[in-house]
Amino acid sequence: MGAFTKSVALNPGDGRPVTLHLAADSRAALELKPEQIQGWRNLVAEARAMFGARHYLSYHFLYTLSDHVASFGLEHHESSDDRDPERAIVDPELFLADVTLLTHEYSHSWNGKYRRPADLTTPDFQQPMKDDLLWVYEGLTQYLGVLFAARAGLYTPEQFHDAVAIKAARLDTERGRAWRPLVDTATEAQLLYEAPAAGEAWRRAVDFYDEGLLLWLEADSKIRERTGGRKSLDDFCRAFHGGADSGPRVVTYTFEDVVAALNGVAPFDWAGFLRDRVEKLTVHPPLAGIEAEGWRLAWRDSSSDLYRAFETSAKQINLKYSIGLVLNHNEERGRGTIEDVIPGMAAAKAGIAPGMKLVAVNGRAWSKDVLHDALRATAQGAPLELLVQNAGYFKTCKLDYRGGERYPWLERIPGRPDVLSELIQPRAGGR
Ligand SMILES: [Zn+2]
Repeated sequence: MGAFTKSVALNPGDGRPVTLHLAADSRAALELKPEQIQGWRNLVAEARAMFGARHYLSYHFLYTLSDHVASFGLEHHESSDDRDPERAIVDPELFLADVTLLTHEYSHSWNGKYRRPADLTTPDFQQPMKDDLLWVYEGLTQYLGVLFAARAGLYTPEQFHDAVAIKAARLDTERGRAWRPLVDTATEAQLLYEAPAAGEAWRRAVDFYDEGLLLWLEADSKIRERTGGRKSLDDFCRAFHGGADSGPRVVTYTFEDVVAALNGVAPFDWAGFLRDRVEKLTVHPPLAGIEAEGWRLAWRDSSSDLYRAFETSAKQINLKYSIGLVLNHNEERGRGTIEDVIPGMAAAKAGIAPGMKLVAVNGRAWSKDVLHDALRATAQGAPLELLVQNAGYFKTCKLDYRGGERYPWLERIPGRPDVLSELIQPRAGGR
């Protein structure tokens, strides 16, 4: 243990040093590229440009690269415990799939650790935490993590668009919003974090992350609209999370404090805006921010690099947006097992359910290529029959589907200003 480690200074010469510490299962896994180091240095500069102040004396990314620990991030004031697969730095696809891990956790030093919901700030473990404001704690952090990745150059502008498209598409396709408001995913977080994939499209996942991102993007567009483009959500973050440099400390907030801070940037019925999106049942997630900033969710018959990176990283084949099915593609976890189906879409209507195993496609033993070829051919009217195994029973499911392959992208709305591209422009000087 500890045989392969490396530390990299991310803001040399600064009195509040930020350091990336890597610990890997091999020396080869530590081979950082100069552009990766530059991206993380840019992250530190971009966060400083946005917030204007830091609430740590020093900050340490504790980045573990191993296939033998759980993959996740855990935020602290002055550090984060960041865990990825062993080859997450050196494999371009794995790096792309999880590039927002460090940008997200670093944002938590401000949003989550310095500013924290009052009812999540309990004096000891005997008091219950109330997590109804996680759409701020995690939702705004999700927004910041993706935004900082783009401003820091860790995402290209196209990859930023793809990230927004993929999150918007999932939320707009899954059906749980019909019965469960966003706030309930926050209140239920402790159960939803550990819930299995089966049934997720109807149960909802920890949607306060990605739906929070869309909500805060819409808040950004609303601030721009109310101020004639003079202010943005950056101004809210600077006011809410900035202030004076300090060591680690906690300043708590309530829903009313968030509303007041937004009103301080741009007067508006923010309480109504937030309650409509957080507490009410709605058919669609908040997509208006993407559209106000000049883009919209669109569909193509090919997937983006980021989409395929997410599939590889999750060891899945994700056909949610065509036949409404997600398939496990991991040898160790039972390759071919149906992880989830979208209620009302072709696979579910044909009688396919999570837990069944895919055996054959149109009479031929299934593989990724066989499945994609057959799906593509449906656009020309070819049939799609999936032979599935349900415990000891086999059945052939005929899918009523003619749509071919279908994947999410963002496309420009003609004639509308491209605010999204302005949003991701670097803010830090000297670059
Ligand atoms: Zn988080």
